[in-house]
Amino acid sequence: MSEERFTGSFTQQEPIPEAGIAAALAVLRHGRLHRYNEAPGEIAETALLEEEFAALTGAKYCLAVASGGYALGCALRAVGLAPGEPVLTNAFTLAPVPGAIAAAGGKPVFVEVTEDLTLDFADLAAKTKATGARLLMLSHMRGHLCDMEALAALCDHLGVTIIEDCAHTMGAAWKGVPSGRQGLVGCYSMQTYKHMNAGEGGFLISDDAEVMARAILLSGSYMLYAKHRAAPGPEVFDRVRMETPNVSGRMDNLRAAILRPQLPTLAERVDRWAALYQTLEAGLQHTPGLRLVTRPTEETYVGSSFQFQLPGWSDARIGLFLTRCIARGVELKWFGADEPVAFTSRYDHWRYAAPQSLPQTDRILKGLVDMRLPLTFSPADVALIGRIIRAEALAVGQGPEPETVVPPRVQ
Ligand SMILES: *Cc1c(COP(=O)(O)O)cnc(C)c1O
Repeated sequence: MSEERFTGSFTQQEPIPEAGIAAALAVLRHGRLHRYNEAPGEIAETALLEEEFAALTGAKYCLAVASGGYALGCALRAVGLAPGEPVLTNAFTLAPVPGAIAAAGGKPVFVEVTEDLTLDFADLAAKTKATGARLLMLSHMRGHLCDMEALAALCDHLGVTIIEDCAHTMGAAWKGVPSGRQGLVGCYSMQTYKHMNAGEGGFLISDDAEVMARAILLSGSYMLYAKHRAAPGPEVFDRVRMETPNVSGRMDNLRAAILRPQLPTLAERVDRWAALYQTLEAGLQHTPGLRLVTRPTEETYVGSSFQFQLPGWSDARIGLFLTRCIARGVELKWFGADEPVAFTSRYDHWRYAAPQSLPQTDRILKGLVDMRLPLTFSPADVALIGRIIRAEALAVGQGPEPETVVPPRVQ
């Protein structure tokens, strides 16, 4: 009997919509790629994009920038991070988050994560008291939202300001409130693997006029900030424009042109991601040895990736399981590997941060398996992926303990 094999690509996204291609060609033909380079009477694509994203999220202000990582660093500077100041953040996140903190002069303080991959509130309170931190860079890593109302109340009580890393939650919501709207600033990424694709790109949104004026000046507006349409008035800039350094990281009109037609299709794509996610979830339910993440009913999530735990499995068993899945075309990533691989690294690999001990996170990441779900997959593809994972989890989980650890080959 021949085994089923999956042949799709886990890194292949959908094409740019035709309207985005046409708009990009128009920008290339007129040549005004710089966001402040406008013909008389023209409104730049970048300024329109910001206005449209502010409307989509309900934010007063929006700034488009060069990357998600830039947005995070810009937000920290705009809220007044002082040199050497501690910044709380999830121990389970991606390298651009602690990187942005370190590059802006802050010190990452990692907070434990829960079994459901969200911030541990008890550890947040303890670390806040121990370090005196007043800033939390909350990473909604892999799209898992914590109880945002409870967190807002706790941070209020602790005197902690929230900056949200929404790289994986553009289009998500907690009790209907868009992700990115509970913090003082919400930051997003439009890098190819996120929920809108311009190759690279980022957004900051906020209702705080002074924070946004500083962010716009920081991003490299020179004295051209009046060309922004989702920005506070000139009186706010007057207060901060001479004291805010320029740290250039602007969005350009080419990428804005590619992005604008993707905004109105976000909700429909979130629905398609949900269908993929739920198909895989149904296929893996009740697999012995495999634990699924519980998604709260208050959460509207974007199923652009999928995680599960292999709790208590040895490294050798997990290595064999991953190797067998990869051999059948199912590209899984593992957060328990000793060495960072491709995009996947762990807090103890980030040696520019002070060494910290997070036993709960260590235990959770040791058994954590992760995969992308690009929209080029169909529900039938995802059902097949589920059958392969389930079969291998059963075979390896219930088979003999492997003698040696075989590190899986991940591309
Ligand atoms: C992708 C990502 C970012 C931002 O990344 P850029 O590549 O700089 O756009 C931030 N946080 C997380 C968790 C991410 O995955």
